Amino acid sequence: MVDRDCDILILGGGGAALYAALKAHAADPRLRIVVASKGLFGKSGCTRMVQGGYNVVLHPDDSFDKHYDDTLRGGGMVNDQELAWTLVTQAPERIIELENRFGCYFDRNADGTIHQRALAGQSFNRTVHRGDLTGIELMSRLSEQVLVSGVEILNEVRGVDLLFDEHRERVCGALLLDMNRGTLTAMAARAVLLATGGAAPLYRITPASLEKSGDGLAMGCRAGAEFIDMEMMQFHPTGLIAGDSVMTGVVLEEGLRGAGGHLVNAQGERYMARYDPAKMERSTRDRVSRSGFMEIRAGRGTPQGGVFLDVRHLGKEFLLKSSPGMYKRCLSVGYDMAKDPIQVTPTAHFQMGGLRIDPECRTSLPGLYAAGEDAGGVHGANRLGGNGVAESIVFGAVAGTTMARELAAAAPRPSSAEAKRTAARLDAREGSANPFRLRRDLGAVAWDHLGIIRSRDGLAQAGRELDRIEQVLGAVGIPAERAGDAAFNERLNLENLLEVSRLIGLAATLREESRGSHYREDFPETSPEGLFNTCLRRAPDGTITAERRPVRFTRRRPEDLKGETVIPTDKATPAAVAAQSTEI
Ligand SMILES: Cc1cc2nc3c(=O)[nH]c(=O)nc-3n(C[C@H](O)[C@H](O)[C@H](O)COP(=O)(O)OP(=O)(O)OC[C@H]3O[C@@H](n4cnc5c(N)ncnc54)[C@H](O)[C@@H]3O)c2cc1C
Repeated sequence: MVDRDCDILILGGGGAALYAALKAHAADPRLRIVVASKGLFGKSGCTRMVQGGYNVVLHPDDSFDKHYDDTLRGGGMVNDQELAWTLVTQAPERIIELENRFGCYFDRNADGTIHQRALAGQSFNRTVHRGDLTGIELMSRLSEQVLVSGVEILNEVRGVDLLFDEHRERVCGALLLDMNRGTLTAMAARAVLLATGGAAPLYRITPASLEKSGDGLAMGCRAGAEFIDMEMMQFHPTGLIAGDSVMTGVVLEEGLRGAGGHLVNAQGERYMARYDPAKMERSTRDRVSRSGFMEIRAGRGTPQGGVFLDVRHLGKEFLLKSSPGMYKRCLSVGYDMAKDPIQVTPTAHFQMGGLRIDPECRTSLPGLYAAGEDAGGVHGANRLGGNGVAESIVFGAVAGTTMARELAAAAPRPSSAEAKRTAARLDAREGSANPFRLRRDLGAVAWDHLGIIRSRDGLAQAGRELDRIEQVLGAVGIPAERAGDAAFNERLNLENLLEVSRLIGLAATLREESRGSHYREDFPETSPEGLFNTCLRRAPDGTITAERRPVRFTRRRPEDLKGETVIPTDKATPAAVAAQSTEI
């Protein structure tokens, strides 16, 4: 094992990680900053996939209060109100910085102002975008800036575990694995940021970047950090079904439903009439996902286990104009949208729960920070489209600035005994179990019991199945030669995903009501008693402590926000949608 040190260690290579690196570097260019990314630098993670765009108050008729209220309403009033306020009030500075300093170019109106499109759940058109390739624009420009900054980049190097000082009082580094060379490094750091993008790929079907396996969350959990609202996982209603292809789960935009697309079961019924006759396909994302799941579960699903999205009546001309990318994507897997109903399924999209942070991105552990999808609390029970990437950028910036400011003058080094103990868990051992098969099992358990519909029995069943998977995982071998070993990396992924599954299961058991993305069929109503956050932490003896903590209404009380948000997609005509192209 190699011993190295730096000032700031950033784990992750998406929007939150890169922004943190740039801000820390700007605060003090002498700092030695290391970005270790499991996927390829600039090319991995979900920030790159962002199509819809970034929510920000820019127009004089819009306001922080409106964006804030939409965010809390969307979140079912269990958001951390200070985090949500930070998101809303710092989003404009970042967009201006992205354009004027980092060279991003966003779509503009004829008068030269930045174009802002409508996304669901918002009372104002406030989503900034670059066509439908917003994420590529962001990541390309941020990567360029990081590359010329002198920040050190470790490509395809994954964080394995956090390291502490000898008194276990402060996080002061992490164990890193170079996945290609198989080498381990104990990287000492005066501050460590977790920005590994959450664990949506836990589920059998997901559009998220598949190298993400809840690593930051699991590292934080094993280290004893506190978590918030781990039950909150967002599903998108229309993921493409394309057999065994990795394209299965890829999101088909909400704009298609907004424009009048129909959801139909295998018996030809527009089944939304059963679940939300007033809004039908334009109902909220969580409700449409749940309805599709119920149809499939009731045996009214398509041959490939989905439902049909039928947009044929919208006409080829409109489809080609409003959704050229999706048209092409569907054609590539055998559907002509203008001629064929498309088989779709709900798909695990975004994790709202995560490490508990304060508005400066500090976790509950000294020396450890979190940002982006690894952090929880900003979105409450449901994330609004456009608020996810805004979160990564805003809190990435906050984390970078805070870490640079708070570097301990003489930070302790990781205890070498602990580094050795941590690395020992990767020592070679015999074993014949197949981790890839286990991954499929875990995805199915999560899908069936920890996903769109939960119940006490289902959660208990999940617990038993997770025990079994954990047992078999112990029989997956570890090679002496770790270089480029996919099975070994999958074993590590599984350990982390199991840890995250336990947290989701426990938090979902605690919340005996339905709210936002969390639906309990044994408690289908939203309860006035449900205005709490679930808080979990792994104690030193290995048990997980769990508590319900009342939401702190620091800026708004539930009675302040009665009534429905205006949802632009509800009013969308095909022509309006063509102009606005609603997205995630
Ligand atoms: C298909 C899709 C479309 C979306 N569209 C929108 C949209 O239009 N608007 C919006 O607001 N949000 C959107 N989102 C959500 C948005 O992408 C996320 O909120 C955001 O990008 C998360 O940023 P992040 O930096 O936290 O993580 P990511 O960008 O996902 O990056 C995570 C990084 O961590 C790395 N990593 C993982 N494990 C480790 C490890 N152990 N060690 C080191 N590195 C590790 C990964 O390789 C990756 O580089 C979309 C999501 C998806 C899946």
